[in-house]
Amino acid sequence: MRDLAAELAALRAQHLYRARRVVSSPQGPRLRVDGRELLAFCSNDYLGLAADPRVQAALVAGAARWGSGGGAAHLVCGHSAEHHALEEELAEFTGRPRALLFSTGYMANLGVITALAGRGDTVLQDRLNHASLLDGGLLSGARFARYAHADAGAAAARLATAGGERVLVTDGVFSMDGDLAPLPALAAACRAHGAWLVVDDAHGFGVLGREGRGSAEHFGLGVADVPVLIGTLGKAFGTSGAFVAGSEDLIEYLIQKARTYIFTTATPPAVAAATRAALAILRREDERRARLGALIAQFRAGCGQLGLTLMPSATPIQPVVVGSAERALAWSAALRERGLLVAAIRPPTVPAGSARLRVTLSAAHTEAEVARLLDALAAIAAAEVPA
Ligand SMILES: *Cc1c(COP(=O)(O)O)cnc(C)c1O
Repeated sequence: MRDLAAELAALRAQHLYRARRVVSSPQGPRLRVDGRELLAFCSNDYLGLAADPRVQAALVAGAARWGSGGGAAHLVCGHSAEHHALEEELAEFTGRPRALLFSTGYMANLGVITALAGRGDTVLQDRLNHASLLDGGLLSGARFARYAHADAGAAAARLATAGGERVLVTDGVFSMDGDLAPLPALAAACRAHGAWLVVDDAHGFGVLGREGRGSAEHFGLGVADVPVLIGTLGKAFGTSGAFVAGSEDLIEYLIQKARTYIFTTATPPAVAAATRAALAILRREDERRARLGALIAQFRAGCGQLGLTLMPSATPIQPVVVGSAERALAWSAALRERGLLVAAIRPPTVPAGSARLRVTLSAAHTEAEVARLLDALAAIAAAEVPA
């Protein structure tokens, strides 16, 4: 039998042990964590909608109308009019003929990849794709190939030699680096080779593009370029769940074939009601994206002055690379002593030697709060004994 205690001790010794904190406030920049108020730069609530009173009111009204539970899978009797209306609004928002709701982004990714690829096919993935995309590729039983990060030339070369149905899968915005996939070049390569392009835009939806339609809007790519677009609702939308947008045939096919769609309970209709409210707000309130852009510029300029290593990211994901897992933990702990909550991201989530503080910004932060983070980083850098 596996020695669990020994494996846990080894994780501790390598500074790779993970622990949860108990949060006792709603999501927002000021979080109550283990009984203490901290200024947080670690959530994916990029637009500050997770605790917006209007979204909350829609959830409450939704529960009053629909009750608490989803009841059954969509194909049995769980597909409510509220889910249906949200799907229609997401299709219109993304400029795609149809959209299909999934319970989580993880399940959407597993479901889409396993529906489109199987034995004898090839799934191509960016090296830095999200774990759920990698898991979908493995579960599909297809041949599995990874190409160098954001390298459309390498991806095209692989497409040219791959066998079977070819499915190229990429994050739109990379979750640990914050940079964008080269979608126009990937779309051209996929069209040239008759391959599917699947884009997981978990971190782009709501944030990128003038109206928040995500990476595809940012690059001006329609359904012919990005036939399979996946968005999640737990990040900028501030609620929960995910969706796939694409052609009529794609969506009908997923309804028949995607096992993570078929064999799971529909999310509560009240959550769909809350998401509809969030969607209306994020489309209308451009100023949230403008404020976020200003905070990103402020943070990057400040880090530049401090000589800290940032990544080439224009999104609210602004990692500060510090190197070892141990150093990332030390910086995160020092920030916490100063009342700031920033996650240390370590291997295996990121490659060895590139452990980082994953700073995420939100439209709900103020300029003064970003300045406070920069001051703390400056103090910690100054106090560190040079290696
Ligand atoms: C968060 C995330 C997911 C998973 O979405 P959930 O709805 O949280 O399951 C998938 N892909 C990427 C890139 C993500 O960042």
